[in-house]
Amino acid sequence: SSSSAFDVGSVPSNARGLGTCSGEKTITATLFPGDGIGPEIAKSVKEVFKQAQIPIEWEEHYVGSTVDPRTGSFVTYESMESVRRNGIGLKGPMTTPIGKGHKSLNLALRKELGLYANVRPCLSIPGYKTRYDNVDLVTIRENTEGEYSGLEHQVVKGVVESIKIITRQASSRVAEYAFHYAETHGRKRVSAIHKANIMKKTDGLFLQCCREVAEKYPNIVYEEVIIDNCMMMLVKNPALFDVLVMPNLYGDIISDLCAGLIGGLGLTPSGNIGENGLALMEAVHGTAPDIAGKNMANPTALLLSSVMMLQHLGLHDKAETIHKAILKTIEEGKYLTGDLGGSAGTTEFTKAVCHNV
Ligand code: NAD
Repeated sequence: SSSSAFDVGSVPSNARGLGTCSGEKTITATLFPGDGIGPEIAKSVKEVFKQAQIPIEWEEHYVGSTVDPRTGSFVTYESMESVRRNGIGLKGPMTTPIGKGHKSLNLALRKELGLYANVRPCLSIPGYKTRYDNVDLVTIRENTEGEYSGLEHQVVKGVVESIKIITRQASSRVAEYAFHYAETHGRKRVSAIHKANIMKKTDGLFLQCCREVAEKYPNIVYEEVIIDNCMMMLVKNPALFDVLVMPNLYGDIISDLCAGLIGGLGLTPSGNIGENGLALMEAVHGTAPDIAGKNMANPTALLLSSVMMLQHLGLHDKAETIHKAILKTIEEGKYLTGDLGGSAGTTEFTKAVCHNV
């Protein structure tokens, strides 16, 4: 089905068996509306869920205004516990101050909750024309270490140091996830993206782990591509790739490029995957401060993230219903938001999706 690439793994324990008997039990899910355009697009998801009669009860959590010493960030301990308890959550974007201040909220969530893989399906939206018609890529990003380990300091005045951490454990785990995803989704190829020609030790270890895992999957073609070449190949012909697995920073960059291939950040969802089916879905984009509070945000990326959430919960029919309604709304083209060349507001687009549910 069209949504299958969005189905990212095993169902969290609190929701097992739900998909088979539709809807008589309610599932509690954590919702972080987030900052900037977050609350506007989160509202859109809540409205569409209501219209589609999705049996989800939201447990809403807001980021605190001071650092919670128990988490070392603005994300409160109670919020973390909510995701742990529910096993499933949806998150709006959160602001990260540049060059100063507290630990990134996103990093805090990923690290505390052990969300080791970030999965970003990037599929062309039928009816929304871009340079390429049939983009069908999935980037799988290591989500807990690399340059994002938060280990930066000043050595002496005028010299700073940032430490990139790569471990066998995290690399093998994300590689295993990527190959398993490829196998269970009928995909043919996994490309490990790296810069091991320069980062010999760190990316070298990452590649070694990918190779070891690849041996267990003889039916999947495995290749290694240097990141700069990969970027050029993606722009020239995205069909050269299928599933891409990579260390943290490269994943951050490549997935935005992939978003650009299908029409921009307003359209791309993602899932952060942890152990035992724990998952926190979020849009790839950030808080979009330039359009926040102006009813201009495209809620599609967060809506598609919610489709990933429903797939993950085993609520496949409900996921399909919402996915189809989103695609139909975009294909009709009457109520597109500004980023897609239209003049509709977030609320008008949402209303159109609700109408198509
Ligand atoms: P951004 O993704 O917020 O915005 C980039 C551009 O894309 C802007 O022009 C914006 O208007 C547009 N855009 C993004 N989402 C859109 C949508 N749904 N509809 C229409 N247009 C959209 O990136 P940025 O400006 O570099 O970052 C802003 C803030 O967001 C920063 O504090 C950054 O740290 C944070 N951020 C958070 C996350 C997250 O929470 N996962 C991810 C990326 C950035």
